Amino acid sequence: MNKLIQKTEKQVEDIFKQIDEIELTNTERVLKAFSNHKISEAHLNGTTGYGYGDVGREAIESMFCELFGTEEALVRTQFISGTHTISTTLFGILRPGDIVLSINGKPYDTLDEVIGIRENPSSLKAFGVTYEQIDLKEGLFDLEAIKERASKKDIKMIIVQRSRGYAFRKAFTIEELEEVFKAIREVNSEVIIMVDNCYGEFVDIKEPTHIGADIAVGSLIKNIGAGIAPTGGYIVGKKHLIDLISDRYSAPGLGKEGGATFGLNRQILQGLFMAPHTVCQALKIDVFASAMLEQLGYETYPKYDEKRSDIVQMIKFNDADKLIKFCQAIQANSPIDSHVVPEPWDMPGYEDKVIMASGAFTAGSSIEISCDGPIRPPYIAYLQGGLTYASGKIAVANAVKNIENK
Ligand SMILES: *Cc1c(COP(=O)(O)O)cnc(C)c1O
Repeated sequence: MNKLIQKTEKQVEDIFKQIDEIELTNTERVLKAFSNHKISEAHLNGTTGYGYGDVGREAIESMFCELFGTEEALVRTQFISGTHTISTTLFGILRPGDIVLSINGKPYDTLDEVIGIRENPSSLKAFGVTYEQIDLKEGLFDLEAIKERASKKDIKMIIVQRSRGYAFRKAFTIEELEEVFKAIREVNSEVIIMVDNCYGEFVDIKEPTHIGADIAVGSLIKNIGAGIAPTGGYIVGKKHLIDLISDRYSAPGLGKEGGATFGLNRQILQGLFMAPHTVCQALKIDVFASAMLEQLGYETYPKYDEKRSDIVQMIKFNDADKLIKFCQAIQANSPIDSHVVPEPWDMPGYEDKVIMASGAFTAGSSIEISCDGPIRPPYIAYLQGGLTYASGKIAVANAVKNIENK
């Protein structure tokens, strides 16, 4: 095992150097945002009640504008999850009669009932918003079909999911996103382009809003909270759009003036400070896992040396037992609930049983190491996160031991 670890680390040396470059660039950007905003102790405190005049919150939102290159930002602990943040964005902007188009096939599963792909009396569909999608072509954007549809100018909003999430496809790189945004803009200058940026922040040195997205949305208990922010979500983009969303986040007329932070500004700021580092630790764990499992003959996506645009590593086990044992070992090597043995269970909304390993300080956080997969062929594990490379390396090495020793 030690030989295999050594060989793997030798193999990934150059990739780790590239990841270090990304960490350095993004750390410089973040540090500059701190200094530009003269962050001091006063910003670390919070407000209660209505939360008016929260200087920490206002500075955080201005820093997000700087980091994402946008006019406005809404960064709030009142968002309970990524899904809630995305839902608020869609309901904030879309009106009855509008059409929303997904250009990467079906969006993330939790959005099914938000959009009305699965019936729900509170969905966008129930409010008269029409959903359309263009499927990927061999895993990539179908530029021809997208241009053709966008040229008709009856679409209000185009939505794109950067990360693979739980889909069997690659995460779209900033270059690929830029190409499709340009194609859209050639035929339509009006349509609002929104990116689900979950799992994507700080994986590259640019964000979707730097290359043409009007709006980007994500969760604070993934990349950009670095395992320190305990809850929340963010939305960055054009001011008139954030204004609409802010009135849906609070109430029409209230906008983003209020919203108590309960002393959480400290964790959000510290998370933001740590995020370029933590995201790169997670990337290194992915690369290590990809290289090691590939050496043992498993198919991995992405390959260890492929360009990444999210923190998700897929491993194809072709064997239910191996998938389960791998996830169980990841759980056993997590800091919280290491004594708990996860079993496949019937999760609401899923057809097959799912196994989930997550031993996190923040419940459900997937910037902390987690691993899951549906119990169906070809038995793919989705590995994500990891706060420190060393702990991730130990977890992955022990998980490999657990499947190879049977
Ligand atoms: C995590 C995630 C979401 C939102 O999920 P929550 O569990 O509600 O935070 C949406 N899209 C993608 C691609 C994600 O990874």
